[in-house]
Amino acid sequence: MGTLMITGGAGFIGSHFVRHWCDTHPGDRVVVVDSLTYAGNLRNLDDVRDRIVFERASITDGTVMESVLRSHGVDIVVNFAAESHNSYALLEPGQFFLTNVLGTQTLLEAARRVGVGRFHHVSTCEVYGDLDLDATELFTESSPYRPRTPYNASKAGADHAVRAYHETFGLPVTISNCANNYGSHQFPEKVIPAFTTSALYGKPLQLYARTENRREWIHVLDHCRAIEAVLERGQVGRTYHVGTGQEASIEQIADLVLDELGLPASMKTVVPDRPGHDRRYVLDWTTLREELGWRPRTDLSEGLRETVRWYAGNRAWWEPLIDRMPVDEGRWPTGTPGAGPGAR
Ligand code: NAD
Repeated sequence: MGTLMITGGAGFIGSHFVRHWCDTHPGDRVVVVDSLTYAGNLRNLDDVRDRIVFERASITDGTVMESVLRSHGVDIVVNFAAESHNSYALLEPGQFFLTNVLGTQTLLEAARRVGVGRFHHVSTCEVYGDLDLDATELFTESSPYRPRTPYNASKAGADHAVRAYHETFGLPVTISNCANNYGSHQFPEKVIPAFTTSALYGKPLQLYARTENRREWIHVLDHCRAIEAVLERGQVGRTYHVGTGQEASIEQIADLVLDELGLPASMKTVVPDRPGHDRRYVLDWTTLREELGWRPRTDLSEGLRETVRWYAGNRAWWEPLIDRMPVDEGRWPTGTPGAGPGAR
């Protein structure tokens, strides 16, 4: 396909995508752009460092973005760069709007000036708001946007900017909105590694009070293959949902982690809900299945167990990151919404 610029490529999903692309498209050049926030980690790219070019830069810097695009002759941009932690967005909402909305618009503008062949934007199921736990409806690509939290709203703003650059300037864009990812190399602030690392330390697993709230889960490699399908066969201007139909509640995740590690259920403890804690999201991914022939390959239970084993076997990867986590999930105030404490 030529030269890809992958932003946010030192993060969880981005680094898996970089590795996947290097393995499956050895003839392509890959330029990784990442500003290395607390969530970015160059070690995630250790095994591909000799196959990529790395540029430490922020997508909020238009001059640098344009220069990187021109100097490397970039054909395709895949934008993973974002502030991604819903809880942290309650403490620093401005940073989320700066990176996720203005950063994406700045990158779009640089891509428009240079004239790239494709701009793919990685988005989330969370832009649609949440569903009742017993709802039978699913979010389709034409569902209205109803974000409820600063993270969701900032991702929604970015999606609107991407569509506007297509409709107004003819930039050849695609968007994918994906369910909750799990797998190796996910920063320990997110629920599955948070539960696993707590359990490995022998500390209680902190479950938000609405333990029945649930998510649709996807293995990170299935997500990477979906983006690959969109880049290779997707229609310019379209949005593709990436889901699996495999749901699990927060409590079921905690139970599975403890079961895999042979630890007792008594290690679960309930803490107040994070303000704005969404109940449920489920995507209708018919278009991706029927138009592009993509299907998830990983069974949730097997994939989760393999992920828990990866954390158990890779303490040297995650232990240095524990002190970099900006949020203490056990400190949200009860009662009226408001960000309150939460900071570590
Ligand atoms: P992550 O936090 O692990 O990685 C984000 C990366 O972006 C980090 O390496 C960080 O250093 C980098 N970054 C942040 N601000 C930047 C900036 N201004 N310029 C350049 N780089 C910057 O997040 P993730 O879970 O890998 O998510 C990647 C993308 O996928 C995000 O856009 C997220 O919204 C989206 N997404 C994530 C999930 C999920 O379950 N994790 C689901 C759907 C969509």
